[in-house]
Amino acid sequence: MQEILGYYDKEIVLLSIMVAIIGSYLALDICQHIMRSRREMKRIWLGVGATTMGLSIWSMHFIGMTAFEVGLPVHYNWWMTFLSIIPAIGSSYIAFYILDKEIAGRIPTLSSSFFMGIGITSMHYLGMKAMTIPGVSMEYHIGYVFLSLMVAVVVSFIALLLFKVVQSKQFVFYKGLSALLMGGGIASMHYIGMKSVRFYIEEGAQLSTEVTGNKVFLILSVSLIMSLVLSAVILLSRVENRSTMHLAYYDLLTGLPNRLHFLMKYEELLKKARNKQHKIVCILFDVDHFKWVNDSFGYKAGDKVLSQLGEAIMAFDNPNLTIARLDGNRFGVLVRKDVSYSQLWHMLEDIQEKIKGMTFSYEQFQFKTTLSIGASMKVFDPDCEDDLFSEAEQALHYAKEIGRNTIQIYSSSVHSNERGRYLLSELRQAASREQFTLRYQPKVTATTSEVNKVEALIRWNHPSLGSISPGEFIPLAEKNGLIVSITEWVMRTAIHQMKVWEESGIPIDRVSINVSAIHFQYGNVYKMVHDLVGEYNMAPSKVELEITETSVMKNIDEAVNTLDHLRKLGIRIALDDFGTGLSSLNYLQRLPIDTLKIDKSFVDDLVHDQKQQSIVSTIISLAQHLGMEVTVEGVEHADQADLLHSYSCDYIQGYYYFKPLFPEEVEEACLLHRKILS
Ligand code: C2E
Ligand code: CA
Ligand code: CA
Repeated sequence: MQEILGYYDKEIVLLSIMVAIIGSYLALDICQHIMRSRREMKRIWLGVGATTMGLSIWSMHFIGMTAFEVGLPVHYNWWMTFLSIIPAIGSSYIAFYILDKEIAGRIPTLSSSFFMGIGITSMHYLGMKAMTIPGVSMEYHIGYVFLSLMVAVVVSFIALLLFKVVQSKQFVFYKGLSALLMGGGIASMHYIGMKSVRFYIEEGAQLSTEVTGNKVFLILSVSLIMSLVLSAVILLSRVENRSTMHLAYYDLLTGLPNRLHFLMKYEELLKKARNKQHKIVCILFDVDHFKWVNDSFGYKAGDKVLSQLGEAIMAFDNPNLTIARLDGNRFGVLVRKDVSYSQLWHMLEDIQEKIKGMTFSYEQFQFKTTLSIGASMKVFDPDCEDDLFSEAEQALHYAKEIGRNTIQIYSSSVHSNERGRYLLSELRQAASREQFTLRYQPKVTATTSEVNKVEALIRWNHPSLGSISPGEFIPLAEKNGLIVSITEWVMRTAIHQMKVWEESGIPIDRVSINVSAIHFQYGNVYKMVHDLVGEYNMAPSKVELEITETSVMKNIDEAVNTLDHLRKLGIRIALDDFGTGLSSLNYLQRLPIDTLKIDKSFVDDLVHDQKQQSIVSTIISLAQHLGMEVTVEGVEHADQADLLHSYSCDYIQGYYYFKPLFPEEVEEACLLHRKILS
């Protein structure tokens, strides 16, 4: 047997190296997608990347084979040829999979390059097995086989390492360099692998100088496959870009545009409005007490509420609006149309009413919620530098401060931060300037319509700003440490008034005083009341403190202790606004309370809502069984009062009977009732 030496067609060799390099570049490019993508896309990219890498190794091999001439016709076993693609794709898959994990964990790329090397080599030798040359036998030189494997592993290692280092950067240069190395590595492995084979011609076989095999066919089919892969990669990239764009500009939970999208639209609109002197409107919605839903029922419940809310707000969508979820429980709307103040107000009222009427459900729980709304509208001219968004934020902040479920359209005299600062400086001196007064809202005894109990409600009359709602200044006082002195002023004035009534024979036998949560938790309420009832020689039972659940939530044991102390002194305790917070029945059982005040929100829908009727009547009877008196507040209509009478609640408070009154008006109301009775 005589050894024959083959020779290479240089152009085809070059082509094979090019295929290896381009394929590697494509595969490494895909690799970057693998690293960046989310789970489902990751798997797809991993598959495409491995296929591309595998195909390039495979194509390189067969193009490389066509470059080789031994002077005899070469036959390929097509099954084996196609089978040889499996180790190439499989090991590329494993290598990329490991590489992806390695980058996250920063482990060296040795194992991935090992798999890549094995893949390249096993493909090569399987590919060789697919080839037969009649009359020629092949022998392998083990040293070269080993060397080819080493080259494949080492070059893969260097290429992947380089790629790993620069993968986070978008440098085409480095990616190109890695591809050059990887492609070069595949090609050198192939040609070293070819060196390991010796061809021996059997006796009688004839060498020929004719071109053997269908080179054109092979090269064309390999090129076709590579083009198909390239198209698939481009297509997938497009799809992913779209989904990345969607992720970047849309909120996953509600499907609405997100904050980034909203701000972009806002800037766009602002530019147009400035040029054309248009009006634009920015509206912000906050879901009231959302934290409570999250805290009590978990984030899933919160998410459910938000997605249902998103759908409800979307129902208002039209081409003139951009509706977005900005973050957490905040939604934003931009209005491009020229709307009047009253049109805007009506639109906001519609939205607010719709949300108020909705019932959100999660598992067996059902919730109601309300919206706080802040809006700002303005005609812009090129010089106008006003920030509509931050104005809407200030209006929203204000809406929340004054008790939520409110609409505020920005006005600089009401909502700007300057007002906040000005109010605070004025608030510090309000008591000494005698700008505070108290109103007293009667609580009417349900059975007899008697007027003998009142709630003291503070009023601030400012000489230039007019009457400022406690909903606005009480939170300000709470935040700035002024609440204790204000409460002291309220207690002193109310107890003094009680003394005056007592001495003039007006039968008011109880005054309720509101105590802020923050004051109850950190101020010494006990000492304050104790000293004042002592100073005025007032029967403690004539004083009731109204506290809310938030006062006791932080430390219920300590709260129970303070309440016990106060009650031992003879002071009565009322739990205010029941129904707006957690309204846990646990509190009713644990807290030493004399009166339960059912919040206005329970009363609003009472007449038309049978469920609400059952809830209110049940709470009334439950509280009474626990030895408490029940006051229902915010009663505005006769039919509400009639229903509450039928539930035998103890006291009714609300505009239907009386608004908060001046002391003289209380006296009149009291005496009028006496006259009617006698
Ligand atoms: P609150 O303690 O829940 O007081 C009831 C509020 O509802 C009062 O508003 C009262 O005027 C109003 N109201 C009563 N009946 C009706 C009705 O039928 N319909 C409607 N729509 N409203 C009704 P006001 O006086 O503006 O007080 C608001 C809140 O400010 C009070 O809510 C209380 O939390 C706080 N506040 C008022 N005075 C004081 C005070 O002296 N100290 C403290 N810490 N907070 C106070
Ligand atoms: Ca109250
Ligand atoms: Ca209340």
